[in-house]
Amino acid sequence: MIHKNIIIGSGFSSLGAILGLKKRGEKCLIITGKVLFSKTDQNLIDLPSRNFEKYKNNIYQSIKNNNLEINTKNNFISYIGFGGLSNLWGKIFNINIEGNNKIRNFLIKQLKIKTNQEINLNHGLKLFRLTEQKITIKEIYKSLDKSRFKTISSTVKKIKFNTKKKIFLIYLFNDQILKAKNIYLASGIFSTLKLLNSLDKKIFRNKIQLNHSDMCYGICFALEKNFKKKIGNEFFYFNQNKNNFAGRLSVLNENIINKYDMSVFFLLLYKLTKFFKIKILVLSVLYKRPANSSLIFFKNSGININVKKTFKNSVIINQLKKSLKKTFNIKFFIFKRTLVGSDFHYSCNIIKNINLKNNNIFFKNLFILDSSYSTKHAFFPTFQMIYESYVRTKNKLSINKFLNKNV
Ligand SMILES: Cc1cc2nc3c(=O)[nH]c(=O)nc-3n(C[C@H](O)[C@H](O)[C@H](O)COP(=O)(O)OP(=O)(O)OC[C@H]3O[C@@H](n4cnc5c(N)ncnc54)[C@H](O)[C@@H]3O)c2cc1C
Repeated sequence: MIHKNIIIGSGFSSLGAILGLKKRGEKCLIITGKVLFSKTDQNLIDLPSRNFEKYKNNIYQSIKNNNLEINTKNNFISYIGFGGLSNLWGKIFNINIEGNNKIRNFLIKQLKIKTNQEINLNHGLKLFRLTEQKITIKEIYKSLDKSRFKTISSTVKKIKFNTKKKIFLIYLFNDQILKAKNIYLASGIFSTLKLLNSLDKKIFRNKIQLNHSDMCYGICFALEKNFKKKIGNEFFYFNQNKNNFAGRLSVLNENIINKYDMSVFFLLLYKLTKFFKIKILVLSVLYKRPANSSLIFFKNSGININVKKTFKNSVIINQLKKSLKKTFNIKFFIFKRTLVGSDFHYSCNIIKNINLKNNNIFFKNLFILDSSYSTKHAFFPTFQMIYESYVRTKNKLSINKFLNKNV
């Protein structure tokens, strides 16, 4: 059997494809990704920035299946399993994206996305009250018409293209081979790069620039009386032009300590400062890394990432301090660098790296939907990615269309 459409991946980027194919009235098969953990595997990942214990196997399997050579002192993760990284994301959608407003509103409605309430305290920050998105990919899949959208719980090992028959051959880890006319890569940046490389070992020209942000954690103190009105406990913010930095801000309390699995030290600190009517704010700040600070390259069969350490940008940190001082009358700050990769928002512009000399005929039927083909920088970029994925699928924008524009 030859499938007309196969989507690889069941994370946020696959949602855009599902909605796009729905709009086109077409059927598809979705390969969701599946963890196959063997007893002989030695799970060595230890990611210190958050408690990922529940999903350790999913992360480990993804690193292993993609032959991702990761220095364990870095904090890059990818995921195999239903829903992908949506199982552990931070639940903030930046819906103020570049694109057509009608499509944007359509997606907001379809995915039941909550809009963000801006709090106008000004002082150089665009501050939004944080209402976590409740979107669960499982529920969306449950509501799909099963006669048109079928799923298979498995993982793709490699993809080949049969030039005579003009079909893709998708090799699964359980030795099954699926055939498809069109494939939609929505498997997360590292898997997508690996699968492209399996299609053609010479598909990439150069080292690939991985775009992401440096991140610092901060803690600061404010007097309770300076929180004049109750403005909530969690926020996310951008600087005024939304391009220089962004982050998340939480007023420490027992809920927050439980939510982020913080240590007893924070509980004691919270109790002590509460007694003196002092509020503690914990925050993260993200800002773009300089060009070529993170480079991906293929070596033998593995994917390597060559990175410079997180850079503590004192200009941005001072700007943020100034804004927070004005907004909450904060006196004292501590900022600490995180491990490189800790922002977890990676993207690249793969079209810039495709080797055009090979002129592969499969480009016409190949769609790249996740952040491995991203041209617009945004902090909290996932909604923009869903938008692009929807538009590319609905309008049949295979990579051939984008490559031809670049020629
Ligand atoms: C801790 C954390 C916090 C975050 N917070 C935010 C936030 O607040 N706001 C925001 O905008 N973004 C956030 N992100 C980023 C966001 O989670 C990702 O951008 C998004 O989930 C990526 O979706 P994706 O579909 O591209 O890939 P993934 O979520 O990685 O999904 C990949 C899918 O492909 C499948 N797959 C992989 N390889 C194969 C294979 N070989 N065969 C078959 N299937 C395969 C997997 O099973 C999975 O279903 C955060 C990320 C993390 C980790």
